[in-house]
Amino acid sequence: MNYAPAHVAYFDNNATTRVAPEVVEAMMPFFGESYGNPSSIYRFGGSVRRLVERAREQVAALIGASPEEIVFTSCGSESDNMALKGFFQERGGKTKIVTTAVEHPAVRSTARFLKGRGADLTELPVDGEGMLSPSALGALGIGPDTLVSAMWANNETGAVFPIKELAEAAKARGALFHTDAVQAAGKAVIDVRKVPIDMLALSGHKLHAPKGIGAAYFRAGAPIRAIIHGGHQEGGRRAGTENVPYIIGIGRACELAAGRMAEEDTRVRAMRDRLEGALLARCAGAKLNGPPAARLPNTTNISFENIEGEAVLLHLDEAGIAASSGSACTTGALEPSHVMMAMGVPYSYAHSSIRFSLSVYNTEEEVDRVIAAMPGIVEKLRRLSPFVG
Ligand code: PLP
Repeated sequence: MNYAPAHVAYFDNNATTRVAPEVVEAMMPFFGESYGNPSSIYRFGGSVRRLVERAREQVAALIGASPEEIVFTSCGSESDNMALKGFFQERGGKTKIVTTAVEHPAVRSTARFLKGRGADLTELPVDGEGMLSPSALGALGIGPDTLVSAMWANNETGAVFPIKELAEAAKARGALFHTDAVQAAGKAVIDVRKVPIDMLALSGHKLHAPKGIGAAYFRAGAPIRAIIHGGHQEGGRRAGTENVPYIIGIGRACELAAGRMAEEDTRVRAMRDRLEGALLARCAGAKLNGPPAARLPNTTNISFENIEGEAVLLHLDEAGIAASSGSACTTGALEPSHVMMAMGVPYSYAHSSIRFSLSVYNTEEEVDRVIAAMPGIVEKLRRLSPFVG
């Protein structure tokens, strides 16, 4: 059965990515003959265990970690929850959490949930480009009771935070540092040997592995508490029989991502820049959201003054182009995204922000299609706009 038009030009890779054929191939045996339980004592399970451990090495290698510092989870959201809730529980609830106004709900809602249970929460503001200053922690009263959680890269704008400076500032005052690296992994160099991060979240489906698998990094000695209790899997850190095919998949995807990072930074960046340059030049009232330079190479977020983002998406869909308005996770909500609001983007622009997020599977021809379609769509919608008097 075919569920989607084969010709779709897919520009929504920050929402999810296609599973790489190499990843599917690596996973297949584990749906078939290699169905052993990695915890079993006999060789039929033991051989699977060795491959799970190899996948752990592949994930660790992408971020410069040791394999035993990696825990497999069900998704990026679980990895984020595990870090924040684990820290909160470990410290008996007497905690400060410092995070940013533009975090993904996986961190933002979790931090707010913990605030409701007694944590002292600070959400750091960002500037008009969605950036956090390296000195953002400067005046705050933080110490060993504090967890600072700042995302490596923003899912809506692609803004890359000064994580090294922030982590060093947090560590210098005895705080712990967590980063949601779900969007950065595979698109930016992450090396926990060079940046003093204690905890980090990854998600499979943002880097060409399937949905429903994630990983968390916990530096050796970091305070970590299981949030799923049961068996002794994952060194007692996360109970539940391992999702072997998906673990193999995220391992292979991390290996591929490491090999494709240069392509993300050159070919994908060049396509993104060409797309962005053309849309800003050819569409009236277009404005970039996010920092021009400190940004993921695959993401552009552009507002088209006084038109509805959702209407643009429907017209793009008609033209066989998939993109998103605000964050995919907030699509359906009528409010402009919390990221645009935190950046102080005026209402007439915040409602019309469109994110195009590319991957190595995009082609120049697909970029041409967007460049050809957008000016007409913007012009048509502007004529119909209730905002224009
Ligand atoms: N963090 C960021 C920055 C994200 O973009 C997302 C997904 O959109 C998540 C966390 C959640 O990841 P998952 O969908 O694997 O739970």
